[in-house]
Amino acid sequence: MKTALITGITGQDGAYLAEHLIGLGYRVHGLIRGQNNPKAEAVQRLIPKLELVEGDLLDQSSLIAAVESTQPDEVYNLGAISFVPVSWRQPVLTSEITGLGVTRLLEAIRLVNRDIRFYQASSSEMFGKVREVPQSETTPFHPRSPYGVAKAYGHYTTVNYRESYEMFACSGILFNHESPRRGLEFVTRKVTNAVARIKLGKQENVLMGDLSPKRDWGFAGDYVRAMHLMLQQDEPDDYVIGTGETHAVEELCAVAFAHVGLDWQDFVGTDPRFLRPAEVNLLIADSSKAREKLEWQPSVDFAGLVRMMVDSDLAQESAKCE
Ligand code: NAP
Repeated sequence: MKTALITGITGQDGAYLAEHLIGLGYRVHGLIRGQNNPKAEAVQRLIPKLELVEGDLLDQSSLIAAVESTQPDEVYNLGAISFVPVSWRQPVLTSEITGLGVTRLLEAIRLVNRDIRFYQASSSEMFGKVREVPQSETTPFHPRSPYGVAKAYGHYTTVNYRESYEMFACSGILFNHESPRRGLEFVTRKVTNAVARIKLGKQENVLMGDLSPKRDWGFAGDYVRAMHLMLQQDEPDDYVIGTGETHAVEELCAVAFAHVGLDWQDFVGTDPRFLRPAEVNLLIADSSKAREKLEWQPSVDFAGLVRMMVDSDLAQESAKCE
């Protein structure tokens, strides 16, 4: 039986990855931070076989202890401040957790057991002001937020540990991926939740930032399969993961409202408070390397993903008493 340690276990991807690995027969440990973290109970209830271990990406010795006590074959570093707007409001903390946290975890692995395989959750936000379309593993980075900068640091740290210490360290450059488990602060879930609440008469409208940026949106359940596949290869490498389709935020609104028989233009307003200091205008993945070498491909398309999220929000909002 293989053992995995996942940071970011209480996040969207952490839960999908843990379920995937347990389904494959892994023993899975999830790193949980803080004293009496309120999300611990929820994730434990969702995944009863999951074993929680204490630790924080800000705390070097806790990471060493977590790696030592769990003795994993594979470590997946999904922990981060992952919401771009927060990274502007808390840029130093973002650099510490999303950036330096990668060094701390790699150091823990290097000190405890260099044979452990390592996955780093890198992001298409590293491409930022894109130098080419679509973006592949060889596209230069030009991050446009403290989050993107911290992820670029984490990516190069991963490559550096691979090259310096011959560690099996992979960076997955994942484009946006969503699900009914996406945090409510993220644009997809903000829209699908608002659609559900408007349909049920609980909310009148929704205020958004710029509706023109385009993203390559996939389903998180598909993307965690790619993370695992990267660590099963003969050689460590970096892979872009995305659908190869791009859609504007406006299209997201149109598809989500249309699914419940409403016209988005009647309910969506804009508010300058939601504009970013620097925007990323167009992201679209060239994931041909992953499709060829990992034999990975997505199973859910954009419209299917949006409908899945709206349906889930409708069910959740209908069940809530207010
Ligand atoms: P998420 O839902 O925001 O989850 C972030 C996780 O990081 C949470 O479990 C959080 O724990 C944990 N965390 C925050 N600070 C920490 C710290 N100091 N020490 C340890 N853990 C800490 O993110 P996600 O969507 O699952 O994404 C997973 C990873 O992939 C992230 O690194 C993200 O940046 C990256 N990524 C995501 C996407 C996407 O579209 N989803 C795309 C590219 C890359 P608490 O619950 O305790 O706060």
